[in-house]
Amino acid sequence: MQITFLGTGSAMPTGERFQTGLLLESDDQNLLVDCGSGALHGLARTNVGYEGVDTLLLTHHHLDHVSDILPLLQARWLAGEESLTIVGPEGTDDLVSRLLDIHEPMQDRLELTIHELDPADCPFEIAGFEVNAMETRHSMYCLAYRFETGDAEPPFVFSADSEAFEELIEFADGAAVLAHDCSFPDDVDVSNHPTPRSLGQALADADAEVGRVYLTHLYPHTEGRHEEMLDSIADSYDGDVRFAEDGLTISLS
Ligand SMILES: [Zn+2]
Ligand SMILES: [Zn+2]
Repeated sequence: MQITFLGTGSAMPTGERFQTGLLLESDDQNLLVDCGSGALHGLARTNVGYEGVDTLLLTHHHLDHVSDILPLLQARWLAGEESLTIVGPEGTDDLVSRLLDIHEPMQDRLELTIHELDPADCPFEIAGFEVNAMETRHSMYCLAYRFETGDAEPPFVFSADSEAFEELIEFADGAAVLAHDCSFPDDVDVSNHPTPRSLGQALADADAEVGRVYLTHLYPHTEGRHEEMLDSIADSYDGDVRFAEDGLTISLS
């Protein structure tokens, strides 16, 4: 499995980081996870491109995770592609319908298949990946995902948007890579997202083995403060923790 961070930013653009998007590749299967503003450009910079992804998986419906859906539909249609499958939590069907309601020119351009998933029914097979889901702690219903390929390859886990808590880290037990929300430095008073201190504590307290943690969903407040944030996590957790960057590709095999 190969993971490319298309966007490691948040709802407040920095000019350096697009909003959330991840490209997962395994054999000839490609999966786009979230599609925030700029993620489509990030996707266009990959060899796969928007022509090569026919499935989009959403973690939740906040704007910084869904705002490039209509541009993705239009780009695929203009490129001669005919379909897109969109999978996401409850309400995804309604979200896509309403986006199309307000943008008549894109209606009926692509054959759309929408699936809504319930973590209780996991695992699902999505674009060739075996996917388990877990509800996160966020201001909106949101799902973290655990991806496996069925090969003898360790899983990849994406926290989506969430506070840090032990059960979510334990959901990532055995993963080679956990990409985790780390929106703000410690001095920002925040709920619904973690701080480095709370993330380090959850990583240390959880009964889980995680190969490497990548910090993502970064607000402008984090710029220039990466060392201090890593130090804060290291105060309680001695594992491998790094910052994700747009365009970074990690191979698990
Ligand atoms: Zn969110
Ligand atoms: Zn977000």
